[in-house]
Amino acid sequence: MAGETCKTEGCGKVLGKRNKSGVCRSCVARRVNADPSHRAKRIAGTIAMHKTPERRRLNQQLARQAGTYWSTPEGRQRRREMGKARYANLDTPEMREKCRIARAEATRLRYAREFAWLPVERREEYNALVRSKRLKAAEAKQIILASLAKEAVPETFEEKLARVQSGQAQVVPVLTRHHLQPTVRS
Ligand SMILES: [Zn+2]
Repeated sequence: MAGETCKTEGCGKVLGKRNKSGVCRSCVARRVNADPSHRAKRIAGTIAMHKTPERRRLNQQLARQAGTYWSTPEGRQRRREMGKARYANLDTPEMREKCRIARAEATRLRYAREFAWLPVERREEYNALVRSKRLKAAEAKQIILASLAKEAVPETFEEKLARVQSGQAQVVPVLTRHHLQPTVRS
């Protein structure tokens, strides 16, 4: 049977004398690997193989050797290089840009949370207190909050009525804790 070639189309590898399938070894492997059930069986087989006492002992020995290797000067050097190579993948312009955007967004969110009490139109005033007058943030906050409290004069009935009459607001029923109450809504 010498000189026979693999039956797979486009392969044409010369087969060994004892080959019975008519297909070369790499083509058989490719076929077997393409079958999911064979792959599952092979993985199960590998797992079972690693569970035998002999294999366990060998694995332990290999792990010990590896541990020894990583603590040698060459091992440590190799580990540093591997770490650098991994970091190099992350240190691309795209990654840096992504990080920059994420950091900016985090800063924006932190600022929004910290200054939720500060109306936009009072920001300049707050900044002036902190920067020019060199007040502590807490002191500046107290000043602005006190000023906001003073400004928060409740709307009179006449003012509400005027808004409803001009169509800027309407009266809507709102359910409070005890009953429905007519409320003016913009
Ligand atoms: Zn082949």
